[in-house]
Amino acid sequence: MDKPSIVKNIISSLEKSQWYTLDHMRDRQLTRLNHIISHTYETVPFYKAALEKANYCPELSITPEFLSTLPVFSREEIQSGQENTLRSTALQPDDYSYPIVTSGSTGIAVRLIGTFDTACYWQALSMREHYWHKRDFSKTLAAIRWAKRNEALPPLGETNSQWGNATEGIELTGASFFLNVASSIQSQLKWLQMINPHYLLSYPSQLKVLLNDIIEQKITLQNLLEIRSLGETVDSELRLLAINHNFKLTDIYSSEEVGIIAIQCPEYHNYHIQAENVIVEILDIHNQPCGIGDEGRVVLTSLHNFATPLLRYDIGDYAQFDNPCACGRVALPTLKKISGRKRNRIIYPNGESRFPYLGDREEYRQITTAVKKFQMIQHELNKVECKLVVDTPLSSDQKTRYANLIKKNLGNLFEIELTFHDDLPRQSNGKFEEFVSLIPSTIENINQTLMIE
Ligand SMILES: [Zn+2]
Repeated sequence: MDKPSIVKNIISSLEKSQWYTLDHMRDRQLTRLNHIISHTYETVPFYKAALEKANYCPELSITPEFLSTLPVFSREEIQSGQENTLRSTALQPDDYSYPIVTSGSTGIAVRLIGTFDTACYWQALSMREHYWHKRDFSKTLAAIRWAKRNEALPPLGETNSQWGNATEGIELTGASFFLNVASSIQSQLKWLQMINPHYLLSYPSQLKVLLNDIIEQKITLQNLLEIRSLGETVDSELRLLAINHNFKLTDIYSSEEVGIIAIQCPEYHNYHIQAENVIVEILDIHNQPCGIGDEGRVVLTSLHNFATPLLRYDIGDYAQFDNPCACGRVALPTLKKISGRKRNRIIYPNGESRFPYLGDREEYRQITTAVKKFQMIQHELNKVECKLVVDTPLSSDQKTRYANLIKKNLGNLFEIELTFHDDLPRQSNGKFEEFVSLIPSTIENINQTLMIE
């Protein structure tokens, strides 16, 4: 069978499984997990010792509790030269194997291998996301994303006759347009006005800047039906911006390591975990499960990667479970909020950490509208640098008020240093973090506090 036919079969099975009971879905996950763990035990050296320590017996089926007896594996453990031991010795190179190299915001990448099966699931779940949100495939899609330095540049970017890989062989679509995210905001705005797309896809940090400018410059994109975000955390500022100005904003939670993790519910404001693809645990600092609404670390077990299995992988994100969704998809548990990476948490002088409140854009704009971009870096336990890109220099009074406002928003515990830059480049993968703590995590106190919004 060819790939589109297999993907269509998966899409049909996903249409049914979303309405399973939670017990039925857990039974299905357990069956899948049995296969993965048996295969892993036999062929993946990296996990052998951990499985033996957990008294894994290949002759017996695992219990639902078995997974929680395995250790949690951090990114650092997975990325520290383990790429050979992580690879299944049964892996036969085939036409469909492809390298997965994570972006590695910490500088070191995790290297895995994708397979035909993981690629089919990625495509089927991408299609599920389109169907849930009832997109009109005949319309046009504009994407402002990472591209190589000399590709997809303004003023025209790149044009394709179809939307791209997810819809290929499944649905006929309208054209898509692609612009390099490294281009200037002004050129992006001009490009958007020129192509006037129905759907716009980009990173949350980019969308925030774009939407603010679209509103400020009273730019009308008459065709625009929906804004889609991916790749970074959507914060409350972007959500409010979208709500207040009637933009439909839909986010997707995915990772290079396991593909699509959670998709926004088509009816409510939560995210449904893609339980056919991944088991999601949310754990506290003692590796115990968090209750609904409690923020903890996202730990993933991939249900389809037999080439480089991922068991209890701490991806480095924080999130909260939500109550079962009223839409009826109880087999797909929900996430209330995804809060970003550990390095995006501020560490207080007493060692506590939380996601920082960076403030309301309007408050800053009352001091000056010259700031076009900012990024805060915590270098020391009591010091935060705020890097600014401005179009006109700030007066000393503005500088003082600006620094004081940041200080207040961060809790009056940090000395604020403003520095001025021509530009604040994105990471090599196109992503941008508004707050980065460079304090080693060992300083972080065990008494972590919950995020306050
Ligand atoms: Zn729902």
